[in-house]
Amino acid sequence: MSPEDYILPGMPNLHSHAFQRALAGQAELATGNKDDFWSWRGKMYHCANRITPDQLRAVAAQLFMEMLKSGYTSVAEFHYLHHTGQGQSAGPPTEMADAVIAASEDAGIGLTLLPVLYMTADFDGPEPLPEQARFINDVDSFLSLLACLRGRQGGNMNMGAAFHSLRAVPGRSLLEVLRILTEEDIDCPIHIHIAETRKEVEACTGFYGLTPVRWLFENVDIDRRWCLVHATHLTDWEVGKLSMSECVIGLCPTTEANLGDGIFRFADFLSGGGKFGIGSDSNISVSPVEELRWLEYGQRLITNRRNISATGDEPHVGTFLWENAASGGARALGCKIHSPGTEGPADLLVLNGEHPLLYGKPAHEITDSFVFSGNDNLVRDVKAGGKWVVRDGAHVNEQDISARYKKAIKELNQ
Ligand SMILES: [Zn+2]
Repeated sequence: MSPEDYILPGMPNLHSHAFQRALAGQAELATGNKDDFWSWRGKMYHCANRITPDQLRAVAAQLFMEMLKSGYTSVAEFHYLHHTGQGQSAGPPTEMADAVIAASEDAGIGLTLLPVLYMTADFDGPEPLPEQARFINDVDSFLSLLACLRGRQGGNMNMGAAFHSLRAVPGRSLLEVLRILTEEDIDCPIHIHIAETRKEVEACTGFYGLTPVRWLFENVDIDRRWCLVHATHLTDWEVGKLSMSECVIGLCPTTEANLGDGIFRFADFLSGGGKFGIGSDSNISVSPVEELRWLEYGQRLITNRRNISATGDEPHVGTFLWENAASGGARALGCKIHSPGTEGPADLLVLNGEHPLLYGKPAHEITDSFVFSGNDNLVRDVKAGGKWVVRDGAHVNEQDISARYKKAIKELNQ
């Protein structure tokens, strides 16, 4: 075995809400037999409405450090917590976004910042709820925010744009933003939550007469810029169209399981050649290994078969999952993967070849063992954007980041 056998491309994390890490483990208390996505959302809003820019920076830096230590080397932050809660600022509200950017620099992770347009409480356009006030922009203020934040790009940070969901963005506003981006010749990743819950699909069908993914296909050119996050509840037609599309499906199996959303039709989607990546979303779990394992195991449980995620070209399930999630994730983040041996600053991880789960295994079994065996973190070293940020399992800025996180979480839990 050569040392190269233990090197893997870094994993892009294509969907994260960093502030929700502060809530991890605090929404697992049963409050009746009706707990679901919507009851969880109430708890999440409580957290969203308390957090300050300084606390967000501290929580996000800790989270991004944990991402790096587990093998994520870049993250797409789906950022809708725009306003500080201290009244409207004079210019575009960038304080919270700047906190996320600073956190990514503290940790040394690649960042694709996705400012999110959030306008309404539901499909028929009702005024946002009071607890959604920090998320809200209209089309003009959203475009100003995008233009302002675009000036922050550079180094290991780029930008995209996101629509929260069809529930939170009227169709005409979504189309207007897309038209203006095209007019201004802005070619960037575009993300949206879609078809995450049955309730959302039913409400969309009731309002538009079309399911959410169908509405997108009828109204928008779903090309390689797009990342459709979740896409849990799909018709056969939608699975077929998505699998042939150049877009990426953003799968977040631990969050989808944690929230009781449902299981994506991965086996059908793969048979059509679909592209996918993984995201830690609510950050209840921060581990690409756990996302990929859940993705495969969910399919095994509903199909009563084994080794779903594989092809004739790549029959090793762990290898297939890691490589395809990495390339799909890179597309969703609008980045290239700078693997060993390619041009550009490397994003890679080095596994611990001395660990009993990897030691002595042939090269073609190493990624399978990494993805499926045990719960130890087998990542030893991580390079992100060409810099070593994790050495021997420890982050280079671990003490500072942890100290600031502990202070922030203590304040938030008071
Ligand atoms: Zn999300």
